[in-house]
Amino acid sequence: MDVLVVGSVAYDSVKTRAGTRDDVLGGSATFFGICSSRFTPTGLVAVVGDDFRAADRALLQEQGVNIDGLETLPGKTFRWGGEYHADMVGRDTLFTELNVFEAFAPKLTQQQRSANIVFLANIHPSLQCSVLDQVNCPHFVAVDTMNFWIDSAKPELLKVIERVDALLLNDEEAAQLTGEPNVSTAAKALMELGPSLVVIKRGEHGALMFHEDERFYVPGFPLDEVIDPTGAGDTFAGGFIGHLAKTEDFTPANVRRAAVVGSLMASYCVQGFSVERLATVTDEDISRRYEAFQDLTQFDAIHR
Ligand code: AMP
Repeated sequence: MDVLVVGSVAYDSVKTRAGTRDDVLGGSATFFGICSSRFTPTGLVAVVGDDFRAADRALLQEQGVNIDGLETLPGKTFRWGGEYHADMVGRDTLFTELNVFEAFAPKLTQQQRSANIVFLANIHPSLQCSVLDQVNCPHFVAVDTMNFWIDSAKPELLKVIERVDALLLNDEEAAQLTGEPNVSTAAKALMELGPSLVVIKRGEHGALMFHEDERFYVPGFPLDEVIDPTGAGDTFAGGFIGHLAKTEDFTPANVRRAAVVGSLMASYCVQGFSVERLATVTDEDISRRYEAFQDLTQFDAIHR
């Protein structure tokens, strides 16, 4: 199955315990697209400014992302700045400059309209909605969001959430959106809004998945060193959706495997700045870490 993603393509400035980087390639659609296209054909719908570097365009293409839907408008590319706390989990957003995204109105081609799976990555809910309005009944639609949009565009976001099969967000955002500090209660409240699958991402602690009557927990992979957590959530989504698209299997057991693939891809993402490590992950790395996850979480029954 092929995947279409709408989201941000950005230049990020990040400060972590491991160092500082300015204007490096980032954005929700970038991390998602690079990760998802490892598993299945993935097309990206987004906009950049005329300052977008040819090398970054080439990198997206080399990674297999279909960038026919990457428009260039006069002006500056979306920019985001963030600083991570010493625990490398909490972060403060220093700035969000929408730039060319303010004037962006995506127009999908016939081919993009027929995507089987649509991922509405973190971007203004009205853009997510516009993509949803243009696609011809996809098999599966998922949405991700962020505190910025919960604060500034909650009514539009709720309308998008009503129309999707799956919602991915982090624990703070789940609490912010529902007013429920307890993760299970927040997930239940979110499922009542429409999605049958809710994935609550918990940074280094992995993710909790609520699917119909099932619950599943996938840990974050324990790493000795984290370099830059930026994009981990989008990469998780790229692995999760990419695996589902590749296998064309939406049974509960495979949705669980997809969550493990999401978590393992995210664990590679945080091992480098920007997409540095994610872009060099091999099939062997993926298999090796999948086995390590199995090893990490298997235990026998107690025999009395
Ligand atoms: P994550 O670490 O998975 O939450 O994603 C971080 C990425 O999201 C960065 O590369 C940013 O460029 C991008 N980003 C940050 N804020 C926004 C926003 N308000 N809308 C869209 N993308 C954003």
